[in-house]
Amino acid sequence: MTCPTCNSDNPDVAFYCHKCGTSLRGSASTRAGSYAVQSSEGVNQFALISTIMPATNRETADNYRWAMIASAVLIIGATAFGLLPIAVAAAAFLIPVAYLVYIYDVNLWEDAPAPVVVGLFLVTGGLSVLVSLIFYRWVFESQFLEMVGGSARGEATSLSIPALLIFAILLPVVAEVVKNLPGVLLARMPQFDDMIDGLTFGVAAGTAYAAFETIVVFSSVFTSGDFRTEQGLSTWIVVIVNLMVVKSLIYGTATGIAVAAFSGKGEGYDGFTPYYVKNFAFAAGVNILYWLGVRLAAYLPFGQTIGLLWGFVILGVLVIRIRVMMQAALLEAAIEDAAKAGTSKRDSFVETFCPECENMLLVGAQFCIACGTSVRSTSHQARKHMNSSPQGGVA
Ligand SMILES: [Zn+2]
Ligand SMILES: [Zn+2]
Repeated sequence: MTCPTCNSDNPDVAFYCHKCGTSLRGSASTRAGSYAVQSSEGVNQFALISTIMPATNRETADNYRWAMIASAVLIIGATAFGLLPIAVAAAAFLIPVAYLVYIYDVNLWEDAPAPVVVGLFLVTGGLSVLVSLIFYRWVFESQFLEMVGGSARGEATSLSIPALLIFAILLPVVAEVVKNLPGVLLARMPQFDDMIDGLTFGVAAGTAYAAFETIVVFSSVFTSGDFRTEQGLSTWIVVIVNLMVVKSLIYGTATGIAVAAFSGKGEGYDGFTPYYVKNFAFAAGVNILYWLGVRLAAYLPFGQTIGLLWGFVILGVLVIRIRVMMQAALLEAAIEDAAKAGTSKRDSFVETFCPECENMLLVGAQFCIACGTSVRSTSHQARKHMNSSPQGGVA
């Protein structure tokens, strides 16, 4: 069977072209029903794990899902018992630590020493502490306290426009620059020039920034001396879930989009292109929308709950955006490579198996012909095994 998109020859049993990933059955050549990173899911599906942890297969993704659910239960349980220092610390570091474990676990960059990732985490964290101290303590503390106090009393008339501009517009933009810096520096290195690498650095930096910001903003929980709190716990649960867990996912996914755009599709990084500028603006804009919504909703009855729902809406938009972006990048880069004939460094060379469905991959495949999963969305470790040539060398 010849592929209608790239003219590669495929076996008659193929469901997807092994070179460009085009669906060979039916008219679904756009593949909206099958995400190239995890082919059993649709592109427009709100699936968090396969979006921010693209190198997991279905089995390991399930482990992360359970670990996240268990941690969420722990956080909500600690809050319900009024153990706020535990709840806040756990909520701040839940997502970033899970993410570090993921990077270590799938051994995403085996030639990249783990210190690179830990360094990214700590450098971003240090910058986050600095920016957060400047905004929340050193320079604009009175505006911040006035805004939070006014909304806590539900006095819409006390709404301060300068405070809103500082904390819902200026801070998100400054923070987005800081979150992009370390990821962009790493994405310039030749061993990390894939779009998936950029995405991973961006998510790691965004979640690290969120964690350290949370610790600065809620530091009074740790310094007040009251280990147990009994008042306002139902509000605390909503605040902890939104301003710590959902926030960290929003920061991570938004920065992931920006740094992935910096990497660009195909080999080598694209750098400061209009495509990057557009996606950086998108990331900063989404952060502004999130904070405007949270700060304004706080003045309404049930404001914290409205803010939480708003956070989920924003997160949904970000997740779909990443999936559409990754899908387009994986399919377009594969078609370009297929058109160039010859083999790229990302093809498989020897008999090897699809990490997703365990069917055998064709020699030189970029996609599994059975399930359509992209070989490039697997970890570098899995790819290195695929790329070991029969002579024992590494291609
Ligand atoms: Zn094809
Ligand atoms: Zn497969």
